[in-house]
Amino acid sequence: MNAIERNIRRYLEIERLLDAFFSSFHFCHAHCIAPELRRNGNRPVAACCKDKYYQVFDLPDAAFDRLRKEREQLYGEPADHKWANAVSPCEYHDPQNGCILKSHKSPVCLAFFCRRAIEQLRTDFGIYFYDYLGMYYALEWLLTGVLPERDYLDLKQNIVAAIAAMGKSFPAQMA
Ligand code: SF4
Repeated sequence: MNAIERNIRRYLEIERLLDAFFSSFHFCHAHCIAPELRRNGNRPVAACCKDKYYQVFDLPDAAFDRLRKEREQLYGEPADHKWANAVSPCEYHDPQNGCILKSHKSPVCLAFFCRRAIEQLRTDFGIYFYDYLGMYYALEWLLTGVLPERDYLDLKQNIVAAIAAMGKSFPAQMA
């Protein structure tokens, strides 16, 4: 396995852990999307996908290129997606169901949590390790191979501990 493959494998492993973490939290739908739907008569919402974030902050780097290539093999190229009544400029945003990418998101898409969500993590669960920019740079460095080994292991452990703090179990192979 070369360095790029190793970095992608680690990135996707952290993505799976973050997905388990986000799905334990239940914040976005309950506190953002559902109230907005109630306010606007159930019309679809873009939520935080207000740009083509899969490209705007990505770096000119071989690992980013590889991530994009694998994403497009799995989910199609952006131009392959046309939505009636689109609500987001991002082609991967299904107006009815949100982001169609179940994996291989760009670091900015994967890391983003709004201030309210981060505050709730702190006040309700005592989870302080998560801040949006810190996570974004950790994911970017993981992908480009400059995140120190110790920080990679800490990141993994912090996410596992955060899932446990929310009283949820996670698949054993992710630990
Ligand atoms: S790729 Fe997904 S998460 Fe990122 S902006 Fe588009 S719809 Fe949102």
